[in-house]
Amino acid sequence: MASIGFIGLGNMGQHMARNLIKAGHSLKVFDLSEENVRYVAQSGAKAAASAAEAATDVEFVVTMVPVGADVRRVFVDSGVIAAARPGTILIDSSTIDVDTARAMHEAAAKAGYKFLDAPVSGGVVGAEQATLTFMCGGDKDTFEKARPILAGMGKNIVHCGGAGQGQVVKICNNMMAAVNMLVAAEALVMGEKLGVDRKVLYDVITTSTGRSYSLERSCPIPGPVPTAPSSNGFKPGFMAKLMLKDLRLSQMAAQSAGASTPLGAAATAAYAMHIENGNGDLDSSSIIKLLKPDIG
Ligand code: NAD
Repeated sequence: MASIGFIGLGNMGQHMARNLIKAGHSLKVFDLSEENVRYVAQSGAKAAASAAEAATDVEFVVTMVPVGADVRRVFVDSGVIAAARPGTILIDSSTIDVDTARAMHEAAAKAGYKFLDAPVSGGVVGAEQATLTFMCGGDKDTFEKARPILAGMGKNIVHCGGAGQGQVVKICNNMMAAVNMLVAAEALVMGEKLGVDRKVLYDVITTSTGRSYSLERSCPIPGPVPTAPSSNGFKPGFMAKLMLKDLRLSQMAAQSAGASTPLGAAATAAYAMHIENGNGDLDSSSIIKLLKPDIG
């Protein structure tokens, strides 16, 4: 069993850290919120007073913080890279921009550490049930060493390629999920306006070529899927503001790669307007409100 420093104990990180403890690893944890640290410490982790302390004398460091600037703050400004002992494997599971992920690989390599970008999909439920998918970027040897640790938090652990390529796969996936959600909402609203029952639309399309995971699992129109956020007041789920964050990351990456993503750009604009309208904390399927504000 391994010794692990875990930094970032929010909606996702607290469950991931607890699952590592359940898997038998020894954890030192840190978050800017003392309450979050206390909560995970109750499950058997040692509370650290700083990010650098959490990274001292451990074999692995895992981070799960909001954005690229936070990842840089933890690894560089808070001294995690300097505090960790040589040979420590640094794993960042936050969803961040590809450029920062690559910069972290470089900063770690310069100081003699191995780095893995390992963003996840599966949401809070996946984090809680240890069924996350990990999309990993870094060298194969580091990936194989990290695999048993990631297996304590997820089911599907995939090596996507070199530095930053885990983040690339993650934003490609989320850009598609957003576009699929938006077009599902457009089609369902249009179909209903033309007089077809929403359940009929759902039943036919989920067995036809227009089907998608977004439609099947998170059907944006209330009713056809009783467990979907749309049938439960759009309670998340995956918040619309997080979808916008990932869409913006996809557009930054598209620009730096010179890739054309007209539908990704349209979905980014649509989610930005939706959030401007005060819907950021609702599930991402609430984008249907942009087309029909009084949907019910
Ligand atoms: P969150 O805001 O709930 O938690 C982030 C935690 O990081 C907070 O507790 C915050 O205090 C802590 N933090 C921030 N800066 C820190 C620092 N410098 N040092 C120590 N702690 C720090 O966010 P979350 O929902 O847990 O998401 C974390 C990451 O996972 C994000 O990048 C998000 O995009 C990604 N993600 C989230 C979901 C989801 O459904 N919530 C799904 C997949 C991926």
